[in-house]
Amino acid sequence: MPEIETKEIAKDVFQIDTLLLGIPHFCAVYLIKGEKLALMDAGDHTTADNVLAGLKKVGVAPQDISYIFCSHIHLDHSGAAGQLVERMPKAQVVVHERGARHLIDPSKLIESYGNLGGDPTLRKLLRPAPASQVVTVKGGETFSLGRDKTVQVIATPGHAPHCASYFYSQHRGLFCGDSVGIYLAEEKVLMPVAAPGYDHDLALSSLKAMASLPVESVFFPHWSMHKNVKDIFAFAQKQWSEWGALAEGLFKAGKADQIEEKLRERARKDIRAVEGRKSLYDYMIGDLISLSAQGYKLCFERKAARG
Ligand SMILES: [Zn+2]
Repeated sequence: MPEIETKEIAKDVFQIDTLLLGIPHFCAVYLIKGEKLALMDAGDHTTADNVLAGLKKVGVAPQDISYIFCSHIHLDHSGAAGQLVERMPKAQVVVHERGARHLIDPSKLIESYGNLGGDPTLRKLLRPAPASQVVTVKGGETFSLGRDKTVQVIATPGHAPHCASYFYSQHRGLFCGDSVGIYLAEEKVLMPVAAPGYDHDLALSSLKAMASLPVESVFFPHWSMHKNVKDIFAFAQKQWSEWGALAEGLFKAGKADQIEEKLRERARKDIRAVEGRKSLYDYMIGDLISLSAQGYKLCFERKAARG
């Protein structure tokens, strides 16, 4: 069992390193200690034990967790929800209505997203969350974690249709899932990710909507918390717009088959600072770019079909 790093990154907010794909500082689950305890995301189905080890390290018993707020249902964020609720009998799994049924019956998740990274034999770890513990939301709902501590749901579709971000009153903190992209704090690298189901126009309008909130800290699952909120949203707007324009331009010119190669070329420049972390760099340049190329292509095909 690897040593799990935990850090109180803001008062009563603990960052647990899930060690996704064995890579440190790439995928976090956050624990909020209000009068009620909440997890922001569950992490991947292959790292549930790491989350439990992290909770143990910060002195929290799984059975005391009241909520798991899922940013979206991609496996690296919610794959562990089923396993975790088996240990968290009173936890409610909060998830966008577009994704809820796939947490209750994960068979489709395996088909649509299961090949990305990791060992396919580990898919048996993907367990259903009982419907009685799943709460569906569509945006606008508020949950209380105790006096003056609320979590508000904000629908932020784009990266996927089932994306929700969560605004936590205590730090005016936004838990943004993948809706702002992968932002690696230590390297200051921001990379958009377009999964199948991606909608470019919605991604840009969600970014705008998030930037207009009174946010003082942004908590990224990939990776860490950032306080220079204005700069991050400006950087994100630039990256998501430019990557989308690159893909859309190729698509419209009948060169959709070049999207993957051109995005990879662009990524090599944008994420150069990550080169020293070889397994992370290879994953981002490899699997994630292939996934994004697919996401952009499908998005612009749908858009063209709509006319
Ligand atoms: Zn995602």
